[in-house]
Amino acid sequence: MAFDPSSLRPLFPILSQQAYDHPLTYLDNAATTQKPLSVLDAIQHYYRHDNANVHRGAHCLSDRATNRFEQARNTVAHFINAPEQSHIIWTKGATEAINMVAFGLEHLLEEGDEILITSLEHHANLVPWQQLAFRTGARLRVLPLTSKGDWAPEFSRYFTDRTRIFAATQISNAIGTTTPLKIMLEHAKQQGAFTLVDGAQAVAHYPIDVRTLDCDFYAFSGHKMYGPTGIGVLYGKNHALEVLMPYQTGGEMVRHVSHHATEFNVLPYRLEAGTPNIEGVIGLAAACDFLSAQDRNALLAWEHTLAEHVYSRLHKEGDIEIYSPEKCATLVSLSVPNIHILDLNAYLDSQGVAVRAGSHCAHPLMAQLGVAGTLRASFACYNTMEEANRFCDVLLEAIDLLS
Ligand code: PLP
Repeated sequence: MAFDPSSLRPLFPILSQQAYDHPLTYLDNAATTQKPLSVLDAIQHYYRHDNANVHRGAHCLSDRATNRFEQARNTVAHFINAPEQSHIIWTKGATEAINMVAFGLEHLLEEGDEILITSLEHHANLVPWQQLAFRTGARLRVLPLTSKGDWAPEFSRYFTDRTRIFAATQISNAIGTTTPLKIMLEHAKQQGAFTLVDGAQAVAHYPIDVRTLDCDFYAFSGHKMYGPTGIGVLYGKNHALEVLMPYQTGGEMVRHVSHHATEFNVLPYRLEAGTPNIEGVIGLAAACDFLSAQDRNALLAWEHTLAEHVYSRLHKEGDIEIYSPEKCATLVSLSVPNIHILDLNAYLDSQGVAVRAGSHCAHPLMAQLGVAGTLRASFACYNTMEEANRFCDVLLEAIDLLS
């Protein structure tokens, strides 16, 4: 039996509101997902009962807060199949996680070394590497992938004995392409490069197993997987985290400090300076629990059904250009020649349909596609077939009106 999202809708009260006198149709999930009641309740419970700073106090509230905080690390480690909870570093989000690695590996880079990314990257997995290259004299190289994620075999020559870092997205936020990570990571590892996977767009849809992926680092954000904003994760293998120079210094990340020297703390604390986002951590663990309680294969199949239904309805329309793959679980990304995407967006919004129009923080990819931006409808497990059809109907109405 097909998955029925109506069982999930009551868990997301924000979805049952009107927007400009129309039922809200929220299809901007690649930007951020809505949060289930269990996440909201976990955060509220923490503030109502357990609020205290972690690791520092010697009183019952601090003990409880610390226990919940460290249990959350365990939950997240479990969620992505990390071998140890010390391999989970809390960050503000995927962006901070990637910056943490870019700054942390700087001391190992020399002029002429190469940092390799793909042509599908979000700016969060591009600018930190570009700036690292500027600072060190390393060379930023870009592995050309087609918008479908294909690459010609001769592109394996992009992996050289100078490749020190290879960083790639798992799924493109702009056009939904899944990158051929397995083979790319193999090439990178053959050259002894550090590998980082940007999982920001994958975690809400695919069960993640960092041991099978076998990357050195995996970065993601809580808010794109039904958790709160302001919290994210850097997973790292032990040896990879150990070589990172702390990106920030201060309290918590130290063992002993004198005016002359500082002894850093052990992992994971060494990379977590200052008071952490405790409510975010607790909310993120609740989001992991929410997803873990679902039949993940059924959710993924449903998300495929929605995205592929929209694709199949719209690709027949001669005046719509679709950039996302036909087989996709996350989104449909499109443009309409001679109609500005912001005008389409404004009409959809006026009818209560929330999507995203723009460059999706991927300027080089937009240039590769030859467009300034696209209109993106992105899906989550709570979206219904009615919503998928409403998006298509209102979009076609907008095209009629604006042509
Ligand atoms: N990587 C990808 C693929 C993304 O889609 C995003 C956000 O859209 C990011 C990284 C950055 O995530 P955040 O802004 O939560 O740090």
